[in-house]
Amino acid sequence: MYAYKLAARREGSPDTIIDINCKSGTLKIGAGYCTIIAGPCSVESREKYLEIATLIKDSGVHILRGGAYKPRTSPYSFAGLGLEGLKILAEARELTGLPVITELLDVRDMEKVCYYSDIIQIGSRNMHNFALLKELGKTDKPVVLKRGFAATVEEWLLAGEYILNAGNEKVILCERGIRTFEQMTRNTVDIGAVALIKELSHLPVIVDPSHATGKSSLVAPVAKASVAAGADGLMIEVHQRPEEALSDGAQSLQPQVFSILVEDIKKLAVLNGRVFR
Ligand code: PEP
Ligand code: MN
Repeated sequence: MYAYKLAARREGSPDTIIDINCKSGTLKIGAGYCTIIAGPCSVESREKYLEIATLIKDSGVHILRGGAYKPRTSPYSFAGLGLEGLKILAEARELTGLPVITELLDVRDMEKVCYYSDIIQIGSRNMHNFALLKELGKTDKPVVLKRGFAATVEEWLLAGEYILNAGNEKVILCERGIRTFEQMTRNTVDIGAVALIKELSHLPVIVDPSHATGKSSLVAPVAKASVAAGADGLMIEVHQRPEEALSDGAQSLQPQVFSILVEDIKKLAVLNGRVFR
């Protein structure tokens, strides 16, 4: 018996598919589907966010991302627009018909973030915040649980177990790179962990090649490798003017470059037996 008893693959049972309700119907994340989440690192302003959301929708992606509460290494960096950012995300959802995901940093913001966002992101830095995970476990919101940058695969699965054990079955794991001795990339992407999670667990697993590499030129190759390794989807940062981004510009793709990548991912997903609607 594994320690992560609820997250563990169940003999004879199918993989978990998570339904996300949106304007155009129900979006499915998990076994057999390839789902793309995209958007800027942070919601920077209403005008910029609605513009990028429309461009991204035109590329054919499934879910919009954007941080309203940002975990920054320095307390002096832009930390997001907070509630105003959440309202902009909700407006973008109305405009595009696409569901939205944003990060929840603090249990005190849970009610508002759950109110405005369709999916809740738990970032790498909060993967070990068990109090927050337990609270989310009491909701019925789908949760994207990013791997802690120093977490083993077992610790990551056990973090997911906290949410499952509290009653919420809608957990999506996200590999976003781990910290190693390598300095030339922001993190080291653990592609092997993606294939391993597919063996060990029934939960969907996606990859974030943006934070995993920290470098826009590496996003496309790592995105493709992730789908080939069995990932159920991708989370990619896109900005209309990456050089002006208030966070993570160096790893953000321009919309035209992103749109070409989505076309390539579609072909690769089909080649790997996935459905890309
Ligand atoms: C993010 O998605 O913008 C983010 C902060 O990611 P991570 O938690 O993986 O660093
Ligand atoms: Mn970011």
